[in-house]
Amino acid sequence: MVEISLEGKIVITGNIRTETGLSIGGATVGLDIGGVDNPVIKNAEGKPYIPGSSLKGKMRSLLEKANGLATDDKRIWVVPNEISIHMCNEPECVVCNIFGRTTRKEPYSSPGGGAIKIEKENVTPTRLIVRDAVLSEDSVKKLRGLKTDLEFTEVKWENVIDRITSAATPRQMERVPEGAEFKFGMIYNVFTESDKSNLREVFKALELLEHDYLGGSGSRGYGKVKFEDVNVYWNSKADYENGDVDTETKTSINGEYKTPASIVKNFEAIKEKIK
Ligand SMILES: [Zn+2]
Repeated sequence: MVEISLEGKIVITGNIRTETGLSIGGATVGLDIGGVDNPVIKNAEGKPYIPGSSLKGKMRSLLEKANGLATDDKRIWVVPNEISIHMCNEPECVVCNIFGRTTRKEPYSSPGGGAIKIEKENVTPTRLIVRDAVLSEDSVKKLRGLKTDLEFTEVKWENVIDRITSAATPRQMERVPEGAEFKFGMIYNVFTESDKSNLREVFKALELLEHDYLGGSGSRGYGKVKFEDVNVYWNSKADYENGDVDTETKTSINGEYKTPASIVKNFEAIKEKIK
């Protein structure tokens, strides 16, 4: 691994608003639980949340495709014949740098049929950390007031068409109603100059996600989300030294640009403030 040292951390906060119902599971855990076979994932308090891993996975897959890195010969199996991700040896690869690159003794097998060996010197840490997005206090109140089918969620009957027999089977789908708001948080570590430029890709991923979907049943129109009131903070190494890292009192570096698209559009000016 190349010797790297931390220059600072970008803290990104904001809201995710559901513009259609959101069905983010939870594997199917059986009909006896709430009588729904597509349960929404919830925390210990019973409130739905968006797992950071789901959000990050979706961002990664959208960026892989948008950067032409999703072809089979550029992917490795993470779970054999089931889950594959992009990984390569290109030092400046944006996806490998944002999401990290690991190696192991044996080369990785690739869906393209060959093998991909990640060289030791190309191993690089993950820059992006994505927290679980939690339901806002305001949404908790509103959803309680709505008296939905289940606490905080609604249940919809959907016809699931068997692809082979074309038979329609009605299934109950649990979903977070449209208009719900989740608070999200991300940390992006800056080690090098190119990390600063690559930050743009994080917001590009959010732009792409707004025109894609989160969770399941995207083809039914589920999972349309919008990122709102986005704030980007820069904490330099010195800021950690001085305890000047409180986002409550700090000024964000994205100024009036609070959406992924406006941040991408004005990225060069925002990037100037990362120093
Ligand atoms: Zn790569």
